[in-house]
Amino acid sequence: MAKYVYDFTEGNKDLKDLLGGKGANLAEMTNLGLPVPPGFTITSEACRHYLAEGAVPQGLDEEISGYLAALETTMGKKLGQADDPLLVSVRSGAKFSMPGMMETVLNIGLNDESVHGLAKQAGGNERFAWDSYRRLIQMFGKTVLGIDGEHFENALETLKGTRDDTDLDAAELRGLVETFKGIVRAETGADFPAAPRDQMRLAIKAVFDSWNAPRAVLYRRQERTPADLGTAVNICSMVFGNCGDDSGTGVAFTRDPGSGHQGVYGDYLQNAQGEDVVAGIRNTIPLQDLERLDKNAYDELMATMEKLENHYRDLCDIEFTIERGKLWMLQTRVGKRTAGAAFRIAVQLVDQGLITMDEAVTRVTGDQLGQLMFPRFDAGAERRLITKGMNASPGAAVGKAVFSSERAVELAEAGERVILVRRETNPDDLSGMIAAQGVLTSRGGKTSHAAVVARGMGKTCVCGAEELEVSVAARRFSAPGGVEVAEGDVISIDGTTGEVFLGEVPVVDSAVVEYFEGRDLDDELVTAVDRIMRHADSVRRLRVRANADTPEDAARAVRFGGEGIGLCRTEHMFLGERRQLVEDLVLASDETERQAALDALEPHQKDDFIGIFQAMDGRPVTVRLIDPPLHEFLPDLVELSVKVATGEASAKDRRLLEAVKRLHEQNPMLGLRGVRLGLVIPGLFAMQVRAIAEAAKEVPGARPEIMIPLVAAVQELEAVREEAARILAEAGVEALIGTMIEVPRAALTAGQIAEAAQFFSFGTNDLTQMTWGFSRDDVEASFFSRYLDLGIFGVSPFETLDRDGVGRLVRIAAEEGRRTRPDLKLGICGEHGGDPDSVHFCHEVGLDYVSCSPFRIPVARLEAGRAALQSNDSDTR
Ligand code: ADP
Ligand code: MG
Ligand code: MG
Repeated sequence: MAKYVYDFTEGNKDLKDLLGGKGANLAEMTNLGLPVPPGFTITSEACRHYLAEGAVPQGLDEEISGYLAALETTMGKKLGQADDPLLVSVRSGAKFSMPGMMETVLNIGLNDESVHGLAKQAGGNERFAWDSYRRLIQMFGKTVLGIDGEHFENALETLKGTRDDTDLDAAELRGLVETFKGIVRAETGADFPAAPRDQMRLAIKAVFDSWNAPRAVLYRRQERTPADLGTAVNICSMVFGNCGDDSGTGVAFTRDPGSGHQGVYGDYLQNAQGEDVVAGIRNTIPLQDLERLDKNAYDELMATMEKLENHYRDLCDIEFTIERGKLWMLQTRVGKRTAGAAFRIAVQLVDQGLITMDEAVTRVTGDQLGQLMFPRFDAGAERRLITKGMNASPGAAVGKAVFSSERAVELAEAGERVILVRRETNPDDLSGMIAAQGVLTSRGGKTSHAAVVARGMGKTCVCGAEELEVSVAARRFSAPGGVEVAEGDVISIDGTTGEVFLGEVPVVDSAVVEYFEGRDLDDELVTAVDRIMRHADSVRRLRVRANADTPEDAARAVRFGGEGIGLCRTEHMFLGERRQLVEDLVLASDETERQAALDALEPHQKDDFIGIFQAMDGRPVTVRLIDPPLHEFLPDLVELSVKVATGEASAKDRRLLEAVKRLHEQNPMLGLRGVRLGLVIPGLFAMQVRAIAEAAKEVPGARPEIMIPLVAAVQELEAVREEAARILAEAGVEALIGTMIEVPRAALTAGQIAEAAQFFSFGTNDLTQMTWGFSRDDVEASFFSRYLDLGIFGVSPFETLDRDGVGRLVRIAAEEGRRTRPDLKLGICGEHGGDPDSVHFCHEVGLDYVSCSPFRIPVARLEAGRAALQSNDSDTR
């Protein structure tokens, strides 16, 4: 029979698929001998079964009862037993952490009888027992029974007035329990379930159900984590941080998740339970201060953190509780961190001898590197600092202040940049956080919801800016010195320093970009990036080239580590003042006029190529012959029609209008473009090839490669190839001649096409359009968000290469092409070339290089290194 339950002593950290991250790490800590309250984990497989079938698997209840009985024996107490109750928490825990996304219920097992037993256990501490009971009803009511949490919060607020929750005495809390029970009755029409086993069963189901809660679905989509994993459920015997001032609960990092520096980073709250720390109920104290409150517990915590870091060989974050002086570990995991900290920590761990350089490269991601290349605020610019909060997630964000998620989404959809300003965010703010450029809160520390979620998303965040008085209702905040900011006013926030500025502050390049630009910088982060990049370069197999059409871009590509140009488009060479010449070409009425137009274009093209070959200094340059339909170079149809109608048109305008009408196409993407132009307009491709050859002759060491776009059949390629080869031979220039593979038919007949091509370059933008039948510019705006909502794809196939469909065509073409021509050179030049997941795919299918925009080159280099190191692991996150 299937096993659906694992005791904490049975699992380990590598069983995340089955036990979820929390369960696997609770088991790991248990086996390390750390103080973890005993318990067991119900697997994610049981959850998947429940979600698919609408019922828990057969035998699960019995299996749980068996484990519960064993737990009761270990603890010497029975669940909810009146005079001496065992209490447990029921905690969600998926493979990938989803902070605050799913549900946890504490103090399961309390009812009108066992609450007295609990007080007795705590030496007659009635206050503590009733506080625990009201928390159970509150959490259970909200997460299991689906009652709006505000009902409970309002009742608590009313009772407290201006006092802290810790000021409530036993009698008041007992009264609150009655009020809460009344709320449950009023909202659900039934009594709060008193039977402990019922409480537990219902809570388990609620955790299973929380997997598909809308905010969890949204979070997974944003984070690109799979939607079908399900969550495990942890049943953990309770320990209590709310017993009095010798108790408390806290969260901590083993090193600073913002900078990576070693030290003590965390928040602690006395006489509190569970979520209190992150919910901002009362102000937390810095973890260092625990040393003063309870030296023993503090020392044990420090020793435990060190042990964890050495064991996991990485930064860990932890959740712990102190019950009357005794430390209990409630959670750990390899902690999220900022992009900069990821690089710093990786090399620190190498220097501490905990990991190798190979591992260091796998510990950072291209996305993180990309974040470090974001611009930052110009320190020299004039700016008005209004306050400073905590630097929770780096970056420089500018936008209009908004005070609700709805408004953030609304304005962002209208194309505005916004900063979401809240007292503190909660999981319902997720859509607003996604829509905003950055997030600013007035409460909460580096472990608050806003901070954790923003860091995970790579979004700029300043939190805990306590000087700000935020009024969500009035849609404004005030800052010291009488500064008032209303909705719509522009502010700038610096997530790297925590500074908040009034108005728009100009931004400048990041230090990492300056490093790539070749400037010498004495900076810890730059040094870390440098070491990791060098190592990634030394292990990667994929070469990295640039998509660049100008000498400036080409030069930047070289500085950023580009090893060639994979795509040099020639169409921009027909723009600007040269449009004139294209018009002449289109209007040419005979052979002589056409040739004259081409002859006039040729020297311009040649000059362009000379500049690029010089910038690339002996590196290969793949030049794509002209691709877009010619009418793109002509004046606009409407403009011309108006001119003609108003009598302003010249004779040429009239002829142009004729031409524009003649060339008009219903589906220009599928019309007269690419190789088809070369076949239809005599001399066009020849002119380009001659310009390339003549330019190559003038630049010593130039290595041109000639690429024919939009080929679907080998015959097309053969027809243009012969002429190109002849021109090259006449000029005495050697150059590979190859083709784009961007039409599905080309991929499917790659074996034939390779007869005539010395290289393939996958044009995955067009290949994606044509494989899906999507017109990119139209579909992205009109229905992609719907497709994402429906889960038809988790990410746009234009962003990350669709492995199953487009990727399959790439595989087929690579294999069959190489079968025909074993030394066929293979590359990719769509925008996917700079996308991390797509780079891994290119490595897997054995391409020789990826080509991407110059700015993405470092990301591609790093990801190519990571791909080489983790060839067996397709998980690039
Ligand atoms: P999340 O996934 O949102 O972090 P957890 O399951 O970790 O939720 O629970 C939140 C908090 O509740 C924990 O950090 C801890 O403080 C508290 N908690 C959970 N289980 C227990 C327990 N058995 N005893 C005491 N506190 C607990
Ligand atoms: Mg937790
Ligand atoms: Mg194309």
